[in-house]
Amino acid sequence: MPSDRKVAARAGAILEIDLRAVAANWRRLQRELAPGARMAAVVKADAYGLGVARIGPILARAGCGLFFVATLDEGVALRKVLPKAAIAVLDGALAGSETVFARARLIPVLNDLGQVVRWSKAHPRKPAILHLDTGMARLGLSRTEVDRLAADPALLARVDLAAIMSHLACADEPRHPKNPEQLARFRAALARLPKAPASLASSSGIFLGPAYHFEIVRPGAALFGINPLPGQPNPMQPTVALKAKILQVRDVDAGETVGYGATHRMERPSRIATVAVGYADGWLRSASNRGSAAIAGRRVPVVGRISMDLLTLDVTGIEAGQAKPGAYVDLLDDSYGVDDAADAAGTIGYEMLTLLGRRYARIYRGAR
Ligand SMILES: *Cc1c(COP(=O)(O)O)cnc(C)c1O
Repeated sequence: MPSDRKVAARAGAILEIDLRAVAANWRRLQRELAPGARMAAVVKADAYGLGVARIGPILARAGCGLFFVATLDEGVALRKVLPKAAIAVLDGALAGSETVFARARLIPVLNDLGQVVRWSKAHPRKPAILHLDTGMARLGLSRTEVDRLAADPALLARVDLAAIMSHLACADEPRHPKNPEQLARFRAALARLPKAPASLASSSGIFLGPAYHFEIVRPGAALFGINPLPGQPNPMQPTVALKAKILQVRDVDAGETVGYGATHRMERPSRIATVAVGYADGWLRSASNRGSAAIAGRRVPVVGRISMDLLTLDVTGIEAGQAKPGAYVDLLDDSYGVDDAADAAGTIGYEMLTLLGRRYARIYRGAR
């Protein structure tokens, strides 16, 4: 796309999003890991920051018929992009929102008994998903609410249950005792409720094995290349690359300091490259003096504080011809992904990806 290129040419930083990799991750999860389950896609927070208007249609084309978003507004926005898909809203249906749900044909995830009652009255024939809390104390019906619901067949008869779901607290720790505990609680609750497709596993949950799959799995992170198996090699393809321009390169004497707070002092005469990415672009300030970037394939450390619009790299070991104003550094690429950058910032790939910038020129690759 020529307009993309023109924007990219003048941009300080470019976020490349690989739509083919998203589709490949979808197919891999479905075919190899959860072949017996129906797969839904979680595309909350603008598809984890990648842009749901581009990601939604790619996943629909790959075979996704059920999407989860977090908020009602996200649901309304996705409905415009995907007129036919089933779209469920995880935050649930607060009192008074039932009409908006119906108008946009959105499926509420009913998170408490009051929501079940109100939906049954407002739209007894429109599908809803029932969310049971099995150990997160966050959203979903509590155990006592499940008791009351199970004892009220008249109420249950007035809800069209598209699915019954719960959510795991520790799916990314395969040996955590909480996993089998939640699984047992979920099974016990399902046995007391009307038959409906059940759903427990998100990305990491899929890797806990078929016992956790039930009828519907709900991956988000893994589709977008975040490692669902922390501490192990990432089975998913990376979907983003981030490159930023060097704005200036300067020689710095031994003993001089770099950046705000003078937190890094040069031990020897050095060269510092200043790059057009900062915490306002989602490159977290907690990554100050931590992590690295690559110039022509060679890794260079971040030195000094990350500031709002800039970060600084020690490029002393790089040829002047390669570390020069206008040259690109790779902040995220196939060998250093969101999980690595997140690690340096003391956070997780989810946070890194969802915070990545509103200021980048975005290029979507693999689009038809
Ligand atoms: C975010 C979310 C998911 C998707 O989780 P990933 O770890 O990103 O796969 C699934 N279910 C619920 C309830 C969620 O909030």
